[in-house]
Amino acid sequence: LSQWKMTLSKICCIGAGYVGGPSCAVIAQKCPDLTVTVVDLSAHRIDQWNSDTLPIFEPRLDEVVKACRGKNLFFSTDIDKGIREAELIFICVNTPTKTFGWGKGRAADLKYIESAARRIAEVAQNSKIVVEKSTVPVKAAESISNILSANVKPGVKYQVLSNPEFLAEGTAITDLLNPDRVLIGGEPTGEGSEAVKALSWIYEHWVPKENIITMNTWSSELSKLAANAFLAQRISSINAMSAICEATGADVDEVAHAVGTDSRIGPKFLKASVGFGGSCFKKDVLNMVYLCECLNLPEVAAYWQQVIDINEYQRRRFTMRIVQSLFNTITNKRITVLGFAFKKNTADTRESAAIHVCKYLLDEGAHVQIYDPKVPRDQIMSDLTMAEITDQPERVPELVTICPNAYEAAEKSHALVICTEWDEFQTLDYQRIYDKMLKPAFIFDGRLLLDHQQLMDIGFKVETIGKRLNR
Ligand code: NAD
Repeated sequence: LSQWKMTLSKICCIGAGYVGGPSCAVIAQKCPDLTVTVVDLSAHRIDQWNSDTLPIFEPRLDEVVKACRGKNLFFSTDIDKGIREAELIFICVNTPTKTFGWGKGRAADLKYIESAARRIAEVAQNSKIVVEKSTVPVKAAESISNILSANVKPGVKYQVLSNPEFLAEGTAITDLLNPDRVLIGGEPTGEGSEAVKALSWIYEHWVPKENIITMNTWSSELSKLAANAFLAQRISSINAMSAICEATGADVDEVAHAVGTDSRIGPKFLKASVGFGGSCFKKDVLNMVYLCECLNLPEVAAYWQQVIDINEYQRRRFTMRIVQSLFNTITNKRITVLGFAFKKNTADTRESAAIHVCKYLLDEGAHVQIYDPKVPRDQIMSDLTMAEITDQPERVPELVTICPNAYEAAEKSHALVICTEWDEFQTLDYQRIYDKMLKPAFIFDGRLLLDHQQLMDIGFKVETIGKRLNR
């Protein structure tokens, strides 16, 4: 057994967010002999993790946290104690996109990673394995190593590993319990390889050994950006196809089915929609563009930039169709928006397509009536009031109504817009909704979620992505 493996009894995670919280809860559940402490600067977030109302909504997260919390899983604001006592420290802090850059790309801002690394160097009294779990540009592990070694105390050693997280919000617990793979990047020889073995030992408690892939640190860092860039690129590819379908009369679902049955391509991530959202895809692709620009690879940068451009084009195109269908004006018209989260089974609204759709609708003077099963009212209002989202933030309270259910949201509305693919939207009583709306009543299905023929039979005029229905 390696020295590291022998000593692993306490681990710490810096950052109690969408990644740090769920991933440590699963580690605690699967490794009952490990003490897992998750620390965060935000006392509010830690209080929520220690309460009955967790700070994030994820199916099954409650049961996993409640099974371990207070036994071998702890949430704390005492960052220094967490660092001091742990033999292995995950860095799971946010890596937001910088708002400024010279080219089109935008680097991930590593200020939180840097301050976490500086804190470790300041506080640590013995050797640590430091695991970079946040998504970072290539060679960030080297920067962490440099910060640690520039401030190292006598007798203390660090091994820095890359271990990017691939969980998807909405399915985080299932993804963590059954990961397609766990990636560990580190030095292949000497103490580096011992540290890799120690981290691998944690995952081996529940992940088959053949699914734990080790590689050099830079490949591991780039693989995370690459995986997200490929996923986003597939969505932009099918969305680009949806524009051709609308122009020709082809049906994007049929095309996706035909393309996806090719075993070389596969069926996943071929669902056309109003566009991708979430905190990661845009951020990571912009990071990739930035990386290519820095490496003087302009053609490669332009290739990945198109993935973002098509996504923005898709949202704009969809909203333009709403305006055009409603006789080219939506000023003072009521529009119902169903779904505000960036995808189903999460309350996360970061980069949600709904924010952008609402912005366009508000800028055209519409009154927007929003219902989402999980996103709290204050979150929606603050997302829509952000200065860079809406031209007239002061008008948001007057123009936006948050409704307790879909039926109230449909009251006296001209059009209903589906922005999130929540299951419950499939089983609503659309006759009841139709009766509440002004006529002609439009539905714009931005997620290809509903039974369009049934809606047309009720009397709705239906527009969706990648199909012509009312012609
Ligand atoms: P998040 O914003 O939900 O959580 C980050 C937490 O880190 C916050 O609570 C913040 O207060 C805390 N923090 C920041 N600096 C700190 C410091 N110096 N000390 C202690 N706490 C600090 O972010 P997230 O969604 O969990 O993402 C974290 C990282 O994981 C990002 O790099 C992201 O790209 C990556 N990632 C996210 C997902 C996802 O689905 N959200 C999936 C895979 C990877």
